[in-house]
Amino acid sequence: MAAEEATLVLIKPDAIKRGLAGAVLTRLEHTGLRLVGAKITRVNRALAEAHYQRLRDRPFFEELIQLLCGELHDIDYVWALVYVGPGAIDTVRTLTGATNPDHADPRSIRGAFGRNTTNGVMENILHASSDPQESAREIALWFRPEELLIPLSAPRKRAESSARAGRA
Ligand code: UDP
Ligand code: MG
Repeated sequence: MAAEEATLVLIKPDAIKRGLAGAVLTRLEHTGLRLVGAKITRVNRALAEAHYQRLRDRPFFEELIQLLCGELHDIDYVWALVYVGPGAIDTVRTLTGATNPDHADPRSIRGAFGRNTTNGVMENILHASSDPQESAREIALWFRPEELLIPLSAPRKRAESSARAGRA
C-alpha cells in the first residue's frame, strides 16, 4: 500500500476568475482523499515568492508571481487545501495533469480547464505539491499547525503505532 502522505493544493486566481473552483473541489473530493485543511487567503508578494522560490531564476517568474497574487485576473484570493491519504501526492498530481495545459491529459483538471492565453500566460488552474519534501515545505508555508484537523506527523505515527501493535 502507498505511503500515507499530505499534499498542498492551491486553486489559482485564473480558476477563480472563471468560476471553476467548485469543479476543481468536486474532482478533488472524488479522489477519496481526506481534506484536513482549507481556507481562502490573500497572497502577497512575499508569500508567492516563497512558494515559488525554486523558480526565481526562470524568465516567467515575475508573471507567475503576478498570477498567483491575482494581479492578472483582478482576484484577491486563492483556495489553499491540504489533502491526506495513501499516495496523496501522486494521486493529486495525476488528477492535476501536465504543467502545460496543451500537453495535459484531457481527463485531468488542467487538460479539461487549463489554457495558454494569447498573451502567453499559462493558466493552469491549480498548484499541487510534487514530492514529500515540497509538500512539507509548502504546507508549513500556507498553514499554521492549528489550522489543520490533524497534526502533520499523525499519519506516519499512526502507521508506526499500528505496525507496532501488529508485532505485539
Ligand atoms: N510555469 C509557466 N511557464 C512554464 C513553466 C511553469 O508559467 O514554462 C508556471 C505554471 O503556472 C506552473 C508553475 O510555473 O504551474 C510552477 O512550475 P512547475 O514546473 O513547478 O510546474 P507544476 O508543478 O505546477 O506542474
Ligand atoms: Mg511544481
